[in-house]
Amino acid sequence: MRDENCIFCKIANGEIPSRTLYEDDDFRVILDLNPVTKGHALILPKDHYKNLYELDDSIAVKALPLAKKMAAVMTDQLGCDGFNLIQNNNEVAGQTVFHFHIHLIPRYNDDKQQLVMKPCGMTAEDLDAVREQIVD
Ligand code: 5GP
Ligand code: ZN
Repeated sequence: MRDENCIFCKIANGEIPSRTLYEDDDFRVILDLNPVTKGHALILPKDHYKNLYELDDSIAVKALPLAKKMAAVMTDQLGCDGFNLIQNNNEVAGQTVFHFHIHLIPRYNDDKQQLVMKPCGMTAEDLDAVREQIVD
């Protein structure tokens, strides 16, 4: 399943050249064109899924083991001090390319990068209500 208008479909399937770090039948891992740190890479499935909601389970189960493997290799090779995995879904969450992907972001003690999450200020009652909304 490919989408003719999707740039990541073209990159993942080799129609557009990329700086490939890894490839198998299901995935291509490439360097991000606008890295936030040295080694910032993207895991792309070769088939088109718009986002996590649409991702096939058969691909989902392979994605995290691949992220783990890439994190280990990249940490060894780049000597980074930590690692972020980021995965955005829909515009509000920062997704700009609508083909599922996982960001692999090596972190360095001196990278001066801020990938900030700030608390939104919920009380204990708020948290109870949220939990009920999700599980009930
Ligand atoms: P998103 O914001 O959708 O989670 O992430 C999209 C990422 O894709 C961004 O980090 C952006 O720099 C990267 N990107 C966009 N177009 C290209 C491209 O043509 N080639 C590569 N290698 N990365 C791209
Ligand atoms: Zn696509």
